[in-house]
Amino acid sequence: MKRVTILGATGSVGSSTLDLIEREAEAFEVLALTANHDVERLAAAAIRTNAKLAVVADASCLAGLIERLAGTGIEARGGGDAVCDAARMGADWTMGAIVGLAGLAPIMAAIEGGGTVVLANKEPLVSAGHLVTAAAAKHGATLLPADSEHNAIFQCFDFARPERVRRIILTASGGPFREWSAEAMRGVTPQQAVAHPNWSMGAKISVDSATMMNKGLELIEAARLFPIDPSAIEIILHPQSIIHSMVEYIDGSILAQLGPSDMRVPIAHTLAWPDRMATPMAPLDFVGVGRLDFAAPDPERFPALALARSALQEGGARPAILNAANEVAVAAFLSGGLNFLEIAAIVADTLARYNPVAPDSLEAVLAIDAEARRHAGERVKDCVV
Ligand code: NAD
Ligand code: MG
Repeated sequence: MKRVTILGATGSVGSSTLDLIEREAEAFEVLALTANHDVERLAAAAIRTNAKLAVVADASCLAGLIERLAGTGIEARGGGDAVCDAARMGADWTMGAIVGLAGLAPIMAAIEGGGTVVLANKEPLVSAGHLVTAAAAKHGATLLPADSEHNAIFQCFDFARPERVRRIILTASGGPFREWSAEAMRGVTPQQAVAHPNWSMGAKISVDSATMMNKGLELIEAARLFPIDPSAIEIILHPQSIIHSMVEYIDGSILAQLGPSDMRVPIAHTLAWPDRMATPMAPLDFVGVGRLDFAAPDPERFPALALARSALQEGGARPAILNAANEVAVAAFLSGGLNFLEIAAIVADTLARYNPVAPDSLEAVLAIDAEARRHAGERVKDCVV
């Protein structure tokens, strides 16, 4: 039996992970499930999977969790430290599916516990990628990417011969506004932005997909995970989201991973790796799909891509600032305090105003993140929708 823990069990990726685990209940023992506030869903999932421990990050929700788990024998805990303690319990397999940099400390704790740590949560890799990969090497933890593009690249990349890779081709759906004018995008509502054409995801990543900042974050994520020069990572639009990414070798061969746009496919790959497990998805209907299209992304309408590319090239604190400002701007947009085009503008402005030295520790990353959030928050106040 594989002992598993899910950080962010009530979210979109967390729910997909639970679905796979519950279908093969005899193969998995659930150690811990964590969530931010949603004790209703958390308790229900803990009871269904007979988890040992359920943790709610917001300690003010602990009483509600205890009440729902009364008599079940499942331990209930609350607070950020308890989430990290749960991550450190030494599961064989841990899913990092918290959204934002809030997932960094729990991921580092899971890495300390060893085992396989699966990264859906991309923001920690963007802001503190070198620290995450160095910690995994130090503690002998295996990092596996669950983000569909990075999972695709992982399946195609020859790690024994990285010098034979010419290019990584990161595919992007282009999001719901792929063909919209900048003028039309100005009036986009949160509801329109979270309605992704191909994928069903949490609110934050859905907005990131709409601005294409998601692809910018994924560019940085790819540079952290794969031994390749960042200039050899190319982004290409592929609206059908069937090819999840590709690796091109020096002889001109291109390996791609294809599949339905359902996160259960890459998650199942990491759950069974290096073996394979069955998923409930119907086989891909190529004739039904009909055609696969490709196009170049438009840097004018989607400035987030160039911001992320520059942050990656400049290195140091820049990716952490990019991520922090984006988290603040997306939250402001979702709560109605910013127009859609201002998200990238806030990120650009924060990068222009704040340029600290490169962080060399987790504490330094968190301090830069906090300061960048303060700068971005100030700027959000100036924006009138
Ligand atoms: P979501 O909003 O649906 O779920 C987030 C989860 O994190 C929830 O369980 C929530 O309770 C928990 N959480 C939120 N804030 C927290 C905090 N401060 N402390 C502790 N827990 C907290 O998000 P999602 O769409 O599942 O995405 C999760 C991560 O995976 C993101 O980093 C996202 O970029 C990445 N990802 C998601 C998808 C997808 O299909 N949804 C695909 C690829 C990558
Ligand atoms: Mg992705």
